[in-house]
Amino acid sequence: MASALDSALTQFHAAADRLALGDSQRDLLTAFKTVFQTEFPVEMDDGGFRVFQGYRVLHNGARGPTKGGIRYSPDVSLDEVKALAMWMTWKCAVVGIPFGGAKGGVVVDPKSISAAELQNLTRRFTAEITPIIGPDQDIPAPDMGTNAQIMAWMMDTYSMGRGYTIPSVVTGKPIAVGGSEGRYEATGRGILYVLDEHLRDSGGVRGKSVAVHGFGNVGGVAARLLHQAGARVQYICDKDTGIYHPEGVDASSAFAFIEAGHVLADWDGVGQRIAPSEVLEAPVDVLVPASMEHVVTEANAERVRAPLIIEGANGPLTPEADEIMRRRNIPVIPDVLANAGGVTVSYFEWVQARQYLHWREEQVNEELRRLMVAAYHAVWSRCLGESGCSMREAAQWIGVERVLEATTLRGIFP
Ligand code: GLU
Repeated sequence: MASALDSALTQFHAAADRLALGDSQRDLLTAFKTVFQTEFPVEMDDGGFRVFQGYRVLHNGARGPTKGGIRYSPDVSLDEVKALAMWMTWKCAVVGIPFGGAKGGVVVDPKSISAAELQNLTRRFTAEITPIIGPDQDIPAPDMGTNAQIMAWMMDTYSMGRGYTIPSVVTGKPIAVGGSEGRYEATGRGILYVLDEHLRDSGGVRGKSVAVHGFGNVGGVAARLLHQAGARVQYICDKDTGIYHPEGVDASSAFAFIEAGHVLADWDGVGQRIAPSEVLEAPVDVLVPASMEHVVTEANAERVRAPLIIEGANGPLTPEADEIMRRRNIPVIPDVLANAGGVTVSYFEWVQARQYLHWREEQVNEELRRLMVAAYHAVWSRCLGESGCSMREAAQWIGVERVLEATTLRGIFP
């Protein structure tokens, strides 16, 4: 199967064709500003050492400091990190926040090591990337396999190296050390806001049946918020277990159970147990693929029965699956718009940290809604008048145009 980087480049060149970009512009926009790769030792609980592989890739900084999460996963690769960094560039441009794109990763299953080892690994990796991160330079955040505690360790390690506390070097921190209200729920909340706006003419999300694939910080929170907003969340799943209930699964209670450190297989709530793959093929009003890249491919895209898809994960549809949805007239609200709520509230957190201010949760959510709804309309109206235009293309055009505009205004140094 093609890699995530192949998908990111295919999407980019499709937009570049439509925008009639020349070769040098394409080279410029697909170039990676910094590709950092490290093999670093970590002291393990048995007193020995293990060497881990880590990456931090800064894609494009034309619009501001680079921004993006750090992923801890046994499967993460340099190509995947590059794809995710590039998607962050377009995402920040689409929602209009003053950041470029970056991403990081460490090849590790965080569940396979102890809390002390996780802390050692995080601190050593932070020390390794310290030369290239910084509040004006590159600002990490959580992603798959990382969380607020890991961000607190990163912030502390970076700060200790400088000799004073620098809360704006990472986002997604716990509130007690400079995190923002609403950041934890922001990606899921952004999905809710965009979906509600898209469905406004038919009454919003209330009463709509939904299937959510993935039950982590994105899928779990989205399912809970959709459930609370009156949607019927008929299908949910984590890695190993799917659950179906025709009246809607109690996603709030299921997610509280997961947050307490359990898996869906052990949840005793009402619902029929099904295979996670069935969630993608559920006959619902809206499908939310919110687990990881490339879960909808040419192998299963024909079997998707939802008439609308909103991407919670980064890159859950391959370009081939995208093409099949276009042929089948199934609109896809793309990742760079749909899941931009996380990085948007990261931006608010960064602003607050720099000003030593703390916003109320209502203020955070109100600003989040404003930016997400504006981005949605920018994408939607960009499509009007373009025959056969998908929202992914429109979002990609907007992202690419804005980055190119910044590059052109700044010129190339020297
Ligand atoms: N990891 C999230 C994403 O993929 C958030 C990034 C951030 O907050 O910087 O958008």
